[in-house]
This record gives sequence, structure tokens and C-alpha cells, in this order.
Amino acid sequence: MKAEIREQLTRRAAEARAHAYAPYSGYAVGAALMAESGVVFSGANVENAAYPTGLCAERVALFAAVAAGERRFSALVVLTRDGGTPCGSCRQALAEFGLETEVAIVDESGHPSLETTVGGLLPHAFGASNLRGR
Ligand code: ZN
Repeated sequence: MKAEIREQLTRRAAEARAHAYAPYSGYAVGAALMAESGVVFSGANVENAAYPTGLCAERVALFAAVAAGERRFSALVVLTRDGGTPCGSCRQALAEFGLETEVAIVDESGHPSLETTVGGLLPHAFGASNLRGR
């Protein structure tokens, strides 16, 4: 990922992370997802007293983007205090829309601790091609 894109998305992820609702885990996450159109969608994790009801920052951003008509993505930054990586459910949700999307995991200081792709996060992904020929 180009440094200027990573820095732009890191700023957006930090802004969203400031609004994370994480009273149970205390683990605030911000995500910023750039569509191929250039539009950026951000998300923060939103927890709930009924735990499974909450949603991760990555899927908040992804689903907002899809709801706005986007289907192709170029870059994603996920910002946590310690460079934590996306959960398995988010990896699968992201894989639905392309394995080539570049991903940077950034810690609280803005340091990128991992640069990879969605495919790198989810090797041997299950996808639409598995369902063809039913
Ligand atoms: Zn997740």
C-alpha cells in the first residue's frame, strides 16, 4: 500500500475509533476501507450487552460501503492499540469482495505492524466459486 494512502486511511480509522462503543472489552477498533472509486468508508466496533449482537469495525465499514453501492475495494487500514488483526468473520466478509484488497494493520502510534492483502489474511478462502455448479 502506498504510504500516502495508508496515512490517509489511518487518519480516518483513528477518527472512527474515537467513536468505538466498547464498554465490555475496552478494545476500541477503527477501520477505513477505500473503494476503487476512491470513496473511503470508516467504521468502529459497536458492542452490546448481548455480546453476539455487536459488530466489528471492519464489517461496519464494509457493509456501509456495500450499502452505498460499492463492490470493489483497493485498501483497508485497521487500527487497534496493539496491532491486533481482523477476526475470522471479518476476513471471510472481506474475501467476498476480493482477495487482492491491500490491508495494513496499524497500532495506536500509527506504526504499520503488518501489510498484506485480504487473501494473505485468509488463505484457501471459501468463496462464490465453491458454490458454482450446484
Ligand atoms: Zn471482526
